[in-house]
Amino acid sequence: PVPVITIDGPTASGKGTVAHRVAQALGWHVLDSGALYRLTALAVIQKDIDPDDAEAVAHVAQNLQVEFHPEGVRLDKLEASELIRQEQVGNLASRLAPNPLLRAALLGRQRAFRQAPGLVADGRDMGTIVFQDAQLKIFLVADVQARAQRRCKQLIEKGISANLKDLLADMRERDARDIERAVAPLLPAQDAHVVDSSNLTIDQTVQSILDLWSR
Ligand code: C5P
Repeated sequence: PVPVITIDGPTASGKGTVAHRVAQALGWHVLDSGALYRLTALAVIQKDIDPDDAEAVAHVAQNLQVEFHPEGVRLDKLEASELIRQEQVGNLASRLAPNPLLRAALLGRQRAFRQAPGLVADGRDMGTIVFQDAQLKIFLVADVQARAQRRCKQLIEKGISANLKDLLADMRERDARDIERAVAPLLPAQDAHVVDSSNLTIDQTVQSILDLWSR
């Protein structure tokens, strides 16, 4: 089978950056599964769908016109990379995520990314559900303080005003929602390697994953 490395973990653990860098180093494809949940959330907002209507939300996900390209992603032919990074969209994505019909609707779309020579997939349930047979599973953690500080720095660098206290509260809330939900809760797969990046640079985190892969 085409090899897969899964990288799961909580919000702002650095999964996205690390997944892209590992994929780059190996010359593999990358799947940002969170982007699919965010794109669904964006489409739900744009189409004015009721977020509590599980079937309608799944229908939106089923029919998403998504095009990933090297610099980002388009939704219905329009650039959506910036839009899906908004906190409001991320929050709605996390509210929609427990919907089992939505998760089922996105399953095939995610598995279609598994193409030669390999795939690095990042998300919450890549190792536990979507790619259960992955050759290497990483569970990337970092303490909530470190994650809130990183997110704060990122936002300020982008010229967006941010407040550490609010971000921390927001992150704790999102963690709780991701961990406590009945459907696809955020948990390491039994065969996952837990990597704590609280005191690691991005380079060091990427290297530790590449080391595990070449072992
Ligand atoms: O990773 P990211 O923050 O972009 O994901 C947005 C939301 O989508 C998360 O808060 C999570 O609830 C949901 N998600 C998920 N399963 C995935 C990826 C993301 O439930 N594989």
